[in-house]
Amino acid sequence: ALRIAQMTGWVSFTMMGIYANVGEVEDGMHTLSAAYGLTDRPGATKLTRAGGIAFEDVTFTYGRREGGIRDLTLRIAEGEKIGIVGASGAGKSTLVALLLRLYDVEKGTVRVGGSDVREVTQESLRGHVAMVTQETAMFNRTARDNIRYGRPQASDEEVAAAARRAEAHDFILAMQDHKGNRGYDAFLGERGVKLSGGQRQRIALARAFLKDAPILVLDEATSALDSEVEASIQRALEDAMEGKTVIAIAHRLSTIARMDRIVVMEDGRIVEEGAHDDLLARGGVYARYWNRQSGGFIPADAAAAE
Ligand code: ADP
Ligand code: MG
Repeated sequence: ALRIAQMTGWVSFTMMGIYANVGEVEDGMHTLSAAYGLTDRPGATKLTRAGGIAFEDVTFTYGRREGGIRDLTLRIAEGEKIGIVGASGAGKSTLVALLLRLYDVEKGTVRVGGSDVREVTQESLRGHVAMVTQETAMFNRTARDNIRYGRPQASDEEVAAAARRAEAHDFILAMQDHKGNRGYDAFLGERGVKLSGGQRQRIALARAFLKDAPILVLDEATSALDSEVEASIQRALEDAMEGKTVIAIAHRLSTIARMDRIVVMEDGRIVEEGAHDDLLARGGVYARYWNRQSGGFIPADAAAAE
């Protein structure tokens, strides 16, 4: 049986310097819960429906005086699409980590579908979230399994369809590992085919497309793609957002300008929020970013992405 079935699509998370060696993971959920030190509470229930997301007066500081999230409240309605912008270090990825309960808040509450994330099983919580980050680790498994990990019961055809949407199909077909396995049978991960950052990101996108979860989190999800590939994936990404609750963190403002609401973060706090046009009219932080980069990059993040 595929042990991969036990994993729920979030192990590739390598944010904030904590790196779980997923290539060696036999039971992703168990090992990573241990790695992050969080276990399900006795009597934790299963999250059965995602609904909206709420960060209620949340503080999380990594035990430091600076960084993290401070007294932050953000309510995201079911089906709402939120863009988050802010200089690097503003706390954007931390917010996503708290949504997935990779850490417990120090103050306040994070809710999904009305449930405190500490009261539901981690597996059921993460099963409702598809996520693509800047850096995605691959398992020491075939390309097919690496994508199917988004939805273990998916057919080969569904895996290939997701890969096509993520512009990954062609490079996968051209792959061969050192044992001679080709295409979707080629092994990835540390001992397999070496992928570029952009290729890894496209596999991660395919995984997320296949998973088709009600909450979609994109944390600099296209940062490693060249602009041509990014443009051709944009349509598939917009399709994937259809009907989903979306949190999209992007350094390229043009990719989030059309979101329902844009949240601007600085030093762990929300300093502005509103639709693109409102924020431009307000002439504040967002307007400055936009004018400075005219749809291009926020300088601090652009440097980090290079
Ligand atoms: P962003 O995604 O907006 O660039 P992050 O959420 O990654 O920002 O980081 C926010 C702040 O928290 C930064 O000041 C960063 O230094 C700090 N931080 C992030 N990860 C860790 C960590 N694992 N340990 C300690 N501090 C961290
Ligand atoms: Mg980040």
